[in-house]
Amino acid sequence: MIIQNTVLDKKDVEKMSPMQRRKVLKGIILSMGSFILPPSFAQAARLNRITDVRMWTAPDHTRIVFDLERNTRHQLIQLRNPSRLVVDLMDTVAGVDPADIGLSDPIVNRVRSGIPRPGIIRTVFELKTSIKPRAFALKASSGKPPRLVLDLVRSKGQSKTVSKHPVLHQKTPRRDAVIVIDPGHGGIDPGAVGPRGTKEKDVALQVAKRLAEKINEMDGFKAELTRKGDYFVSLRKRVSVARKHQADLFVSLHANAFKLQSARGASVYMLSEGGKPSPDKAIRRLVQRENSADLIGGVNLNHVSDPTVRGILMDLTQRDSLNRALVYGKNLLGELKSVPSVNIHFKEVKQAGFAVLKAPDMPSILVEMAFLTNRREEKMLRNNSHQDALADALASGTKKFINATGLA
Ligand SMILES: [Zn+2]
Repeated sequence: MIIQNTVLDKKDVEKMSPMQRRKVLKGIILSMGSFILPPSFAQAARLNRITDVRMWTAPDHTRIVFDLERNTRHQLIQLRNPSRLVVDLMDTVAGVDPADIGLSDPIVNRVRSGIPRPGIIRTVFELKTSIKPRAFALKASSGKPPRLVLDLVRSKGQSKTVSKHPVLHQKTPRRDAVIVIDPGHGGIDPGAVGPRGTKEKDVALQVAKRLAEKINEMDGFKAELTRKGDYFVSLRKRVSVARKHQADLFVSLHANAFKLQSARGASVYMLSEGGKPSPDKAIRRLVQRENSADLIGGVNLNHVSDPTVRGILMDLTQRDSLNRALVYGKNLLGELKSVPSVNIHFKEVKQAGFAVLKAPDMPSILVEMAFLTNRREEKMLRNNSHQDALADALASGTKKFINATGLA
């Protein structure tokens, strides 16, 4: 039984043999197990229902997507000897049997399913090798239902040592959410400069450090900075630092500039689909300025060939990242709106082609905290308690997002 890809991608379906195609499109439903319950039962019991399960093999991970009627709690349990991953979906009944995702996958040997307790659907992935699991919920979007996404990430250079005392029922320790904070500019590149000489690179670093401190104080969170002092870091380096730390979220801090001193307020940006330019001229100019950091620092963009950040590949991972970035951005904006000393420039999360947001596998957000060219906002950005309030809002938005959606 082979399901190599998700049914969402028309191209992939076209590549399949008729038999594979039939399996992908119909097989799951046709091979329903005996414990599958009709929708009417789920509605009556106010339970969530699995409506589809898909599997997708990527070069470095295997992704399983549970389509749901609504988002639900889940629990991951990792077992060793043999290596297994158990996924429990709470308050759920099966509309399709997850065990029926027949597969030919480099890491999953077999899939089983069952009901350990009424209202819990358990799916057990028997694995050929040890993996690092990650799961996250996606809300309904663009005609897609709420989903639980489960990634089985293959480890590079796995440890060959075998424990003498194998842990048989070890629940995966809940790992910390890693938030990479990126203070814009630095060193030779001051960024925007206010009328009183305040430099964007300095205020960005000050707020970033405050934010890192607050995030590190939160249980289950860990902050990392892309730069810790006044030195130049290329945009690509910032992204690769975040990837090195396996960031769950990336947030880049900046301060805006505009020819009119009256321009004011904070705004939150995410990457546009395909990195396409914003229709807004002022945003295009902002992107141009922010993206020119590498030129100022002497990095020749033509000779950079980091495959991890090269181009924009709109694969499933990136679409998820963009969906999550939008929700994360909304959380941050919502928190910023609640700070009395913060003006809001754009009431919604804006999309634009910022180079530093182009990592395909982590939700990335850029915050313009205020306009340095506005005298009042320049003064505010230098103010300790205002910086602290900004950091508080960003930390709180981050916490709310992770708590609501889980780790990516
Ligand atoms: Zn900037």
